[in-house]
Amino acid sequence: MRRLSVLFLALIALVLPSCGNHKLFKDGKSDYTIILSPDATESERYAAEELRYWIKEVSGTDLPIADLSGGVRGKRLVVGFNQLVSELVPGAVKPEDRDDSFTLRSVGGDILFWGGSLRGTLYAVYSFLEEELGCRWYSSKVSLAPHKDSWGFGKLDRHEEPGIIIRDNCVLDVRSNPAFSARTRNNFVRLPGKNPGETIPGTAEGYWGVHAMGYLISPAEYYSTHPEYFSLRDGKRLSSYAQLCLSNPEVLDLCIDKIKKVMRDNPDFLIYSMEQNDNRDFCQCDECTALAEKYGGQSGLMVWFVNQVADAVKDEFPDKFIGTFAYQYTRHAPKDIVPRDNVVIRLCSIECCMFHDYDDCELNVDFLKDLRDWSAIAPHLYIWDYVTDFAQYCLPVANWKTMASHIKDFRDNNAIGILEEGDYQTVSCELREMRSWLLAKLMWNPDADVDALINDFTDGYYGAAGPFIREYLELEDSVLRRPGIHSDCYIDASDPMYTDEFISKGRQIFAAAKEAVASDQALYDRVETAEMPLCFLLMEKNPVIGLQEGADVIVRKVIEREGIDRMAEGEWSGGVMSATRLLEKYDNLSEAMKKSLVFPATEVSYTTQGVSFKKYEGSFMSTSEMLRKGKVTEKGLMPWINIDTDPKNDHFGYVFECWFKAVQDGIHQFKIVSDDGTVLEIDGAEVINIDGSHSAQTGFAFVNLEKGFHRLVLKYFEDCEGQQLDIHLAAPDGFNGNLPASRLFTPIR
Ligand SMILES: [Zn+2]
Ligand SMILES: [Zn+2]
Repeated sequence: MRRLSVLFLALIALVLPSCGNHKLFKDGKSDYTIILSPDATESERYAAEELRYWIKEVSGTDLPIADLSGGVRGKRLVVGFNQLVSELVPGAVKPEDRDDSFTLRSVGGDILFWGGSLRGTLYAVYSFLEEELGCRWYSSKVSLAPHKDSWGFGKLDRHEEPGIIIRDNCVLDVRSNPAFSARTRNNFVRLPGKNPGETIPGTAEGYWGVHAMGYLISPAEYYSTHPEYFSLRDGKRLSSYAQLCLSNPEVLDLCIDKIKKVMRDNPDFLIYSMEQNDNRDFCQCDECTALAEKYGGQSGLMVWFVNQVADAVKDEFPDKFIGTFAYQYTRHAPKDIVPRDNVVIRLCSIECCMFHDYDDCELNVDFLKDLRDWSAIAPHLYIWDYVTDFAQYCLPVANWKTMASHIKDFRDNNAIGILEEGDYQTVSCELREMRSWLLAKLMWNPDADVDALINDFTDGYYGAAGPFIREYLELEDSVLRRPGIHSDCYIDASDPMYTDEFISKGRQIFAAAKEAVASDQALYDRVETAEMPLCFLLMEKNPVIGLQEGADVIVRKVIEREGIDRMAEGEWSGGVMSATRLLEKYDNLSEAMKKSLVFPATEVSYTTQGVSFKKYEGSFMSTSEMLRKGKVTEKGLMPWINIDTDPKNDHFGYVFECWFKAVQDGIHQFKIVSDDGTVLEIDGAEVINIDGSHSAQTGFAFVNLEKGFHRLVLKYFEDCEGQQLDIHLAAPDGFNGNLPASRLFTPIR
């Protein structure tokens, strides 16, 4: 019975037209006019155009835009704070231009939209379109404008203020699409009104520069004449990539002159960077050290320096700010010194664990203390936060819940602004559209219900696949955030938190998700893009299975369709940065697999587990030299292939021999990381050769093995310094890990 009544209610909701006394439109007709004041700002005029455009998208009705002075008949949508608002709402006060808060209110049949003239009024319009008409701007390419035959209202009265005043959603899709950026209430603009491609007027903030000390006073310009301007490290002034010697009065004078020139030449910004370079090489000279000790650490020296710059520019630029970092070696708050009123501190969370709340993770305790300490002394605290994986942009990052709690902590500690750094160079971050949409919503309202937002996005953006995307998010949450797992913003695909089971379960969910939207190509493509991180992960972890399952094909399709050009923020040892190079790597793997030699099995009876070995000693530069010149000092059986890992030991080598048991026909990948040289032979054929004296190098081979025994000979030698021998197997039965002892045999003699 209860079920029935619920169903009955749902039906009523479906068949009833939208309620309210006043009809904005019905059956393609409307008697409303959009009203602007003759002195409306550029942003308010844009707001009126947006209102007109989206109402037409929803209703098919094209409303006229008219001047307030024209004596309009009929009902009115009044855009911007003007004389009409003052008349209709006695006591209403004109907001500051830069005030992003807004009011949306009906008076009789009229609807008034007003806020600050730069963005507030525009946000009132967007709020109306989202909350009342159901419009959504999920990404720069995907908007929703649900068709309605009619829409009416009784009373509208809403006032909203931003939880965070400066909201910088630092991802490429937002930064390079000003219209989308404004619709998501992102208000950071590098240069107000003058950005390349910037067409949407209005901003709260412009921040000139980052790590600016490096280019205000560069070693290229000054080192040859004034090495003493740069940081002293281990007795030597650094000539490249240095920090400044902040205690040097000439450095201070030069910084003041340079920043004043920047401020005069670029007057549109609000905050000007006087920030340390992106390295930890602070100056160790006696004067710098003494000042740092006096003021509680390197941040104290930095604040001491920046305060003097701020004092020097204050008279000429009373409305401007000097910005500096609390980053890495300056992250802890200072003692016995506080930043001036015209100084903005940008506190950076780069060391934090993204997977846990700040008060619920041993790795975040220190940061939370720094946040509170700075909050207590900084007149303007600004946060630089990190929300994706910069080592491999597209890897799954389970911070959906913690993004909200982190932003709340920033708000509760009086942050005036947040820069949320994501895939700012490209569009390859995992579920990037949802990540940036959530961040935008949460920076506006840190108390918003994250689950409700996720439901909204997943149903709206992925259609019938929405429930499956949520199932995948739950899988991420349960696997990646299981006890004991933490993660900062540099994660490698080889991280053990990404289990084989996680990948296979995730791909099962995506298979069902794709089936649910199979008839809609646009939705299918979005789901495939969401699946790409798992395919990338599979290709990194087990290319044998990845190639067999066509994971490379999906990665390639998404890279080409989305125009992804890079996979990581920068070059790094663990992976490939350029998308083109990644696809070349896949081509090589695929080619190697196609060419993989076929090895028939050998019949071997009377075997037992284990590996026979000979240990050699002597100094050699290759395995062949080892066999020629080395002295065999030990021989016998060991359970698996294992070198002496005492790093103090040098000048030795091994030859291992055993029978490898393939438990299933098909392609196997052997991957060896070796320091120094290794040669691997299977059934008498050399398949991997990374011989020679070197630091760790990787070699791999695909071999097509018939089920049964195969002769495996591995020659290894260590010249000097570190040593390493890791042998990885990916087999067609699904095995993926270190070559296991259970598959290595030796005949009983
Ligand atoms: Zn110094
Ligand atoms: Zn943690």
